[in-house]
Amino acid sequence: MIGLWFLSVLTYRLMVLEEGNCWTYHYSEKNMTYKLAEKWCRKHYTNMVAIQNKKEIAHLNAFLPFSPTYYWIGIRKIDNEWTWVGTRKRLTEEAKNWAPGEPNNRKNDEDCVEIYIKRDKDAGKWNDERCSKQKVALCYTVVTCDQLKEPDQGTLECSHPLQNYSYNSSCKVQCAEGYESTGFEPVWCTSSGNWSAPTPACRVVQCDGLNAPAHGSLTCSPAFGNLLWNSTCEFACEAGFVLKGSDRLQCGASGKWDGEQPECEST
Ligand code: CA
Repeated sequence: MIGLWFLSVLTYRLMVLEEGNCWTYHYSEKNMTYKLAEKWCRKHYTNMVAIQNKKEIAHLNAFLPFSPTYYWIGIRKIDNEWTWVGTRKRLTEEAKNWAPGEPNNRKNDEDCVEIYIKRDKDAGKWNDERCSKQKVALCYTVVTCDQLKEPDQGTLECSHPLQNYSYNSSCKVQCAEGYESTGFEPVWCTSSGNWSAPTPACRVVQCDGLNAPAHGSLTCSPAFGNLLWNSTCEFACEAGFVLKGSDRLQCGASGKWDGEQPECEST
C-alpha cells in the first residue's frame, strides 16, 4: 500500500510539470521593500513567486511589463543560506538561476533576490539586492480545491506542499478500528481545482459467512444480514455429538473471526 502511495505521487508530479497553469501571477502597482512585498503577496495572494523552471521564467519574462527596479521574488537569505520564503527550504544548487557574477553581495547586506524581467542582458536571471530597496512585488495564487470533510469513523491525513487544500495537496483516509476505507488511493487536488476522486468513506468491517457444522447448528447475532464487526455466532451439536473447538466466534476488527470454525464429533 505504501508502495502504491509513492507511485501515485511520482506519476502525478511528472504530469504536473507538463500541465502548468496551476497558478496565476500578480504584481504590485507600486514599488515596495522586500518585507512589505512579502506581506502584500501573502495578504492578497498565496505568496511571493517561488516557481522556477525555464518555461515559467520565459512566461514571466514575456508577460510582465518592464520595470527599471525589477521584481522581488520569494528567495532571501535566512541564517546565511539562500532560502525559499514560502516553504523555508534551502535553495538547491540545481534550482539556482543567478546572473553571471551574482550573488556578489556588493554592499555587504544584499540578502534579498530580484528577477531581471525584460532586461537587455540576463533576462530571467536573479540578482541579490538590499532588502530595503523598493521593487515590484511578484506574487502567485495557486489553484485551490474545496476543503475536505473527514468521513464518519475516519480521519484525513493530508499533505499540502503549496497551501492548504490547494493544487498538489493530497489526502488519504484513516478509518477507525473496525472500519475500512472504500478507496485506497489518496485523493489529489488537481490543476482544475477539483479533487481527483470523491473522498473515500469508512464502512464497517464485515466477516465471511459461517456454516453450521455437520450434526450441529449455528446461531448468529444478528440472525439475518451481514456479519459485521463484533457480530457473534454460537455453535451447538446434536445429541450424541460433542463440539470440538470454540462454541462461540466473534467477528474481529480486521474482518477475521477470532478462531477456527468448530466441528461436531461423535461421542
Ligand atoms: Ca547583487
